[in-house]
Amino acid sequence: MDKVGETTLILDLTALEHNYNYLRSKVKPKTKFLGVVKAFAYGSDMIAIAQKLEQMGADYLAVAYVSEGVLLRKVGVGLPILVLHPLASNFDDLIENHLEPSLYSRNILNQFIETANAKNQKDYPIHIKFNTGLNRLGFDDTDVDFIAKEAKKTNGIKIVSCFSHLAASEDKNERNFSLNQINSFQNLSSTLMEKLGHTTMRHMLNTSGIINYPEAQFEMVRSGIGLYGYGNQAEIDAQLQPVATLKTIISQIHLIDANESIGYNRAFKSNKPIKSATLPIGHADGIGRQYGKGKGFVTINNKKAPILGNVCMDMIMVDVTDIECTEGDEAIVFGPQKSAENLAATANTISYEILTAISQRVKREVKNK
Ligand SMILES: *Cc1c(COP(=O)(O)O)cnc(C)c1O
Repeated sequence: MDKVGETTLILDLTALEHNYNYLRSKVKPKTKFLGVVKAFAYGSDMIAIAQKLEQMGADYLAVAYVSEGVLLRKVGVGLPILVLHPLASNFDDLIENHLEPSLYSRNILNQFIETANAKNQKDYPIHIKFNTGLNRLGFDDTDVDFIAKEAKKTNGIKIVSCFSHLAASEDKNERNFSLNQINSFQNLSSTLMEKLGHTTMRHMLNTSGIINYPEAQFEMVRSGIGLYGYGNQAEIDAQLQPVATLKTIISQIHLIDANESIGYNRAFKSNKPIKSATLPIGHADGIGRQYGKGKGFVTINNKKAPILGNVCMDMIMVDVTDIECTEGDEAIVFGPQKSAENLAATANTISYEILTAISQRVKREVKNK
């Protein structure tokens, strides 16, 4: 494995290709595939990931905000890009960059139609988001008439898809709830298409949905976390390959006597002589304070080194008492052999959070473009 001179997030696009092919193999060949690249592609490198997805033949990309889509257009990404959470204040940028809005309320639909008309757009592609139980964003059954009526009044826009989002696709105990969501979505989209007088694409499944509800793939699926190598369940994790490896190095080693303390607030107090290593990664890099005080750990020379005391902004100190190591040796925070999901679990969180937390200060190195 490559040695690093500073904290680096190494992104292996061969793993992305593997995951993409695996997820595609779970849906019918003609089902379209949307790759979710919001939040810097789950904390990795949005541009490198989007370009690779385009090269591999993904049909669509999705981002959360307009500004993320604008960045992709700036580097020449040409795929259709769904913006999951556009705000009316960004509609000018959205249209200028040919980004496709998810419209989720009467207000935002009206505002978008007004902007599209003012800019003399014709059949501008839009996506209708239905709320089927997540209660986050979306229209419900009382809005269907309204959507159809507004859409038919103008040729400035065209509804190219309707979609919804599962609340608990990874949780087998919520299977009935998920099946109900799928059923409501099917009814809502059929009614809307009937009233519009044309069909649209329909899509509902995220990564765990692809795995657990393949019967609901409709015309497209939307995958994020699976592309990055995490599947929310051990059997699927075993089939996927983490794209990102976070590495750092030992800056300094200290021999600590019994009764000494380590770090801010003296949060670690030693009752015996130990050896500590200081690493150049801290909460400003995405390793939150909740990983401190022995919860989180890194791997040095294949051994577990728990974090001692509080996480600092730019550093952590780890216990290397029983590890043969020297200054300059590398430390792995997460990667294929040391899952980000397991590290996240030490702080009661999930892979999504630790991955997206890795801050822009951390150097990215992309392999196998
Ligand atoms: C983030 C997101 C996804 C991707 O979900 P994963 O669990 O990462 O596959 C899909 N759809 C919507 C609406 C999202 O916000």
